[in-house]
Amino acid sequence: MTSLLNLSKQLFHLFYPNVCEACGEELVGNENIICIACWKDLPETMFHLQVNNPLEQKFFGRIPLEYGSSMYYFNKDSRIQDVLHALKYRNNIDVGIELGRRFGRAIESCTWLKDIDVIIPIPLSNQKMKARGYNQSEYIAIGLSEILNIPLNTTSVIRTKHTETQTRKSRAERLENMHSAFEIQNEKELEGKHVLLVDDVITTGATLESCALRILKEKDTKISIVTLAFAIE
Ligand SMILES: [Zn+2]
Repeated sequence: MTSLLNLSKQLFHLFYPNVCEACGEELVGNENIICIACWKDLPETMFHLQVNNPLEQKFFGRIPLEYGSSMYYFNKDSRIQDVLHALKYRNNIDVGIELGRRFGRAIESCTWLKDIDVIIPIPLSNQKMKARGYNQSEYIAIGLSEILNIPLNTTSVIRTKHTETQTRKSRAERLENMHSAFEIQNEKELEGKHVLLVDDVITTGATLESCALRILKEKDTKISIVTLAFAIE
């Protein structure tokens, strides 16, 4: 029976080859979604083993961040760009969930995670959600939630306006622009909670800062942040 299944699987792949989402090469053996060579090529940050790591440093003097980490460095010539592109523009939900799971397995032994009550992906605005159809950060958060066994909340924080890339603006201009970009629904659900905010890539951190500041207005809340990729400026 197993060999019959394998045979039909092989036949299926003959007509619909399963290719790596990052490099486009055909997947072999147990490879799934992304090939082994591409996974190996992703530059891991190991921030989770570092006290005051670069992600945490980014928020010094901006928000009272409890903990933070990023899984991979983001640089334009690496496979991470292809992987994130697949996630962001090719509606590739499986890539997002698998990335979230890998991230979860990498950080699951961090003791600070025991204090986290809820995982919240940075929401997209309605307008952006309509255009793209899905929130890529939500799929990373689903994978994280599954491995870390921490509940996911995608309803309490909403994004009321979308702001485009703001890298050329000053920090004050960016914050002003982001002011009131996020709103809270069902405040009671966040009260007293330590929230783990999740985003795909961090560049300036303005969006995360703005979302964190809004959540921190709720009673007795704490914020930690994880991003899949960390852009080197
Ligand atoms: Zn590949």
